[in-house]
Amino acid sequence: MPAQILLAGGAGYIGSHAALALQAAGYEVLVFDNLSTGHREFLRFGRQVTGDLADRATLAKVFATNNILAVMHFAACAYVGESVTDPAKYYRNNVANTLNLLEAARDHGVRHVIFSSTCATYGLPQHLPLREDHPQNPVNPYGRTKLAVEWMLRDFAGAYAMNFCSLRYFNAAGAAPAGTGIGEWHEPETHLIPLALQASLDPARPLRLFGADYATQDGSCVRDYIHVCDLAEAHILALEWLLAGGKSAAFNLGNGRGYSVREVLACAAKVTGLPPAVEEAPRRPGDPDVLVGDAGRAMAELGWKPVRADLEQIVGSAWEWELSRLPPPRAG
Ligand code: UDP
Repeated sequence: MPAQILLAGGAGYIGSHAALALQAAGYEVLVFDNLSTGHREFLRFGRQVTGDLADRATLAKVFATNNILAVMHFAACAYVGESVTDPAKYYRNNVANTLNLLEAARDHGVRHVIFSSTCATYGLPQHLPLREDHPQNPVNPYGRTKLAVEWMLRDFAGAYAMNFCSLRYFNAAGAAPAGTGIGEWHEPETHLIPLALQASLDPARPLRLFGADYATQDGSCVRDYIHVCDLAEAHILALEWLLAGGKSAAFNLGNGRGYSVREVLACAAKVTGLPPAVEEAPRRPGDPDVLVGDAGRAMAELGWKPVRADLEQIVGSAWEWELSRLPPPRAG
């Protein structure tokens, strides 16, 4: 049986793009997803098992009956606001269920793990751009659950025959080319770029601009948007690094360049030709003024180079995806 890469959460936004990239690079993909937030429609690459990380018996069976070379772990709850009101859900899904996955991997001799971490593990930046050695003091339960898994991985790598990469994503955005059938699809959608594009399509759904009084050039928050296909490529490089015996490490994945919310909205207007309706709204709790990452380590060690760094390209690909999701026009 050829060796497979197990993608926990492979039916989600980033996981499905990684599945596409892995398949294109010649890897065998096995998606494990409970389809709670992932989409059956995204199960397009490799084989699939519908299962839950809470179910240790099913997990053990998947590891026992396949030839898994490495695990990529995308499965998580990722709404910051919900993590504040329902932290138990986040600790169970993101931490306890990850322990199940890592134990199953260890018990079946799987030695390589690539984990979807986040810049939210840093908390409020003390200096910018953020490097991996910046203190990690997350300001919400979501970030704390991701940091807890980073620690779990370090301890597993110290005690068992495992190595890992924690990939700290900045703002994933954009979509694979039209025709692949995958893109950004969250329910509910909370992210800026899809909401801005949806506001362009439907003036009845204005974009709420959260905070116009930040200490930035135009008063709106600045973020580092990174194309989801560039993120997906980084997973392959991380996998190859681990397979070659690379040491366990954390890597920032961002473009190192920040754009304000207003700049993103202007870009959406340019790409669509339809300026989105915008309503100023209060700040969203826990949003720092500026988050920009220094991905120099991933570039130097993994040989990663984002090739879709241009904001217009990122927003343009997201726009193609939004258009592809529109219902077909009615005949007559
Ligand atoms: N944002 C906004 N209105 C929205 C959604 C997001 O103004 O409806 C802002 C948000 O405050 C942040 C930036 O857009 O500064 C990116 O937010 P998003 O939720 O896309 O990603 P996050 O940075 O939370 O991971």
